[in-house]
Amino acid sequence: MDKNARSFGIRLAAIFLAVSGVLVIGGYVYLSDRQAEGRAAAQQEMSAVADLKLRQISNWRAERLSDARFFARARFVAEDIQPFLNQPDSQAARSAVEHWLRLLKAEDRYYAVLVLDGRLEPRLALSDSARESDAFMGGLLQKALETRDVAMSDLIQDQTSGLIHLDLMFPIFEDADPERGAPIAAVLLKLDARHFLFPLIQVWPTPSQSAETLLVRRDGETVLFLNDLRHRAGSALSLRVPLDLPELPAAKVLRGQTNVLEGVDYRGVPVVAAGRMVPGTGWGMVAKMDREEIYAPLRRQMAAVGLVLGSLLVASGLLVALLWRQRSAQMLQLAKDDLARANAELERRVGERTAQLRESVAELEAFSYSLSHDLRAPLRAISNFSAMVLEDHRDKLGVDAALLEKVLSAAKRMDQLIRDVLALSRISRQEMGTETVDLERLVRKVIQERPELQAPRAQVCIEGSLPAVRGHEASLTQCLANLLGNAVKFVALGVIPQVRLFAEANGDRIRLWVADNGIGIAPEAREKIFEMFQRLHSQEEYEGTGIGLAIVKRAVERMGGKVGVESEPGKGSRFWVELRAVAPRES
Ligand code: ADP
Repeated sequence: MDKNARSFGIRLAAIFLAVSGVLVIGGYVYLSDRQAEGRAAAQQEMSAVADLKLRQISNWRAERLSDARFFARARFVAEDIQPFLNQPDSQAARSAVEHWLRLLKAEDRYYAVLVLDGRLEPRLALSDSARESDAFMGGLLQKALETRDVAMSDLIQDQTSGLIHLDLMFPIFEDADPERGAPIAAVLLKLDARHFLFPLIQVWPTPSQSAETLLVRRDGETVLFLNDLRHRAGSALSLRVPLDLPELPAAKVLRGQTNVLEGVDYRGVPVVAAGRMVPGTGWGMVAKMDREEIYAPLRRQMAAVGLVLGSLLVASGLLVALLWRQRSAQMLQLAKDDLARANAELERRVGERTAQLRESVAELEAFSYSLSHDLRAPLRAISNFSAMVLEDHRDKLGVDAALLEKVLSAAKRMDQLIRDVLALSRISRQEMGTETVDLERLVRKVIQERPELQAPRAQVCIEGSLPAVRGHEASLTQCLANLLGNAVKFVALGVIPQVRLFAEANGDRIRLWVADNGIGIAPEAREKIFEMFQRLHSQEEYEGTGIGLAIVKRAVERMGGKVGVESEPGKGSRFWVELRAVAPRES
């Protein structure tokens, strides 16, 4: 059963471990898959947004360039400009130019449109008054003249107004012929980046807390941020960070690394980014999103999966515990049932045996009774009649008188034997109640009742006082009578028996000593004499039945005590009886 329980436990534990293993490994694989997927998706999104923005910016640039190019090459432009330059006061010439200049400006696409003459003097300007017009334009014109095409400036910040603008300049050639014509004028278009370019950059195609696109350019050994940043106001053309920052995606792009970049952005926040260079410009573009935002759903998912896994583990643990408990309860019940059955069986057997024993005791008692009465009656008749014949006819009997005396003594001895056997049997079956017995009183009574224990035939003295003990009074009386009887009997011829009684306390025990001046006992006989019918002497030397000490031993042991003897042949014997002392509160 125990073995079964163990193998059941091992099986349960193995199943639990296997289930947990599968759950944990499965969960881990699932989560790392999800993580890889999430990461790939985020990188894809960044790339896609970067491409989209790149396309939008490029388109926007191309549109601006082609707008300008249209006017740069249009014949009517050259045809209108020439008269206007030649006759500055002609209203007609001026309004002809103004007409297409307005078309070019297209409401507020450009905040200023200027016509410059050969000396870079503005000759005509359409300008939103609030806005500053920049004077610096020589470099741009230079470039436009060299390429004989539209030149686009970088982003420029006006120091006084803070305006960030981007300029387009195109020369106008004689006969509108960019190949051979001499340049006669130039048109400058000024564009507010905050109005047109930055919104284009800043709009993110999907809702996001942290995503942004940004433009940067290299400025010496620094990265210059071109637009206003989502997470930092007023950064356009003013925020600079070292180009060699290893983790900054914007720096990475300018150092030539594009595509997917993971790094730490200008705020020190970990981001997933994609970088591109904008063709035809020195601009680097970065589309990025905080790693936190990307991984938050993933983390939520992880937490959910963890929770589910944990619950599954706990549930399977509980299940195992439950099974185990059920099993244990079953086993316990089985064991209890077994025990109850065994108990019932035991009780039944004890009952049976007790009944048998009672029967035997009853039989024994009946037998003892018949012995004491039926057997002793004829014995008494024999001894009585022998005594009568001896008394009346001793003279006539002559030598036969001695024979008859032998018959008489044998009958007496037989009677003594029967009485001793009866005493032993009584002691063996008698209930030994534990009463308090005053030893001293008992000893005195025994001495008083037996002349052979009294002067002048013997000297029996009590040394000190004898305490009370726990025992059975009648049995103890018998024991003392036997011990004292032996003490005065087994003495050498002509010696007056001297017996001393004294008591010794030993823990909760009292040892009563009976010391005589008799013949003593050989060492090898000291155990034997307590057995039934064991005698060391013949009937002629010392009378007796060999039952007295057996009675003492049996009685004392039944009272929970012990007996023993110390002796040396020729130097007397000291028999002892150890009994339970009376506890203080009992006395
Ligand atoms: P009984 O006295 O009837 O012979 P017991 O059982 O009383 O039988 O004693 C057994 C034997 O032990 C005695 O026959 C005797 O040899 C020896 N014995 C008993 N008491 C003493 C004693 N006080 N001194 C010497 N021997 C003893």
